[in-house]
Amino acid sequence: MPDIRPMVGSGALVLNATYEPLCVVSVRRAAILVLSAKAVCVADGDGVLHSARNSLPVPSVVRLTRFVRVPYRTHVGLSRRAIFARDGWRCAYCRGPAETIDHVFPRSRGGRHAWENVVAACARCNHTKGDKTPAELGWRLHALPAAPKGTAWRVLGHRAPDPRWADWLDLREPEAA
Ligand SMILES: [Zn+2]
Repeated sequence: MPDIRPMVGSGALVLNATYEPLCVVSVRRAAILVLSAKAVCVADGDGVLHSARNSLPVPSVVRLTRFVRVPYRTHVGLSRRAIFARDGWRCAYCRGPAETIDHVFPRSRGGRHAWENVVAACARCNHTKGDKTPAELGWRLHALPAAPKGTAWRVLGHRAPDPRWADWLDLREPEAA
């Protein structure tokens, strides 16, 4: 096993043989997949990994050489990270940078904690909104909240994507305000 010491906190995107995003693994794990010919590197990250016998560019995206069957997950977990990712890290009301989660129909009034009732919001809008509904304030939602769909969510629900992964994750640019 190679002695590979990557940077702390770095990760590599793993694609299925079909280029479908599967998961994020440590750079060390991705390098081992490449060195054991279980995967090929399709995008390099920064720097070079060294082992006793090998050196290879830090993998940023690797693709498995053999297709793996993955159980199809219809349900995307409602995590804070996933909500921000779905909403493009933008406030649903003013389109500014979002740092809080807002329940569109307030929880204090029976609003559910569900994909259809949560949006990313900036602190200012969230505070101003308080226990009111957007309709009561005359506010409009940028888009109707809904559960996200697609394979990219296996990855997006767990961590912020590396910009180098955009080609494989089909990430949409947040629309201009
Ligand atoms: Zn806002």
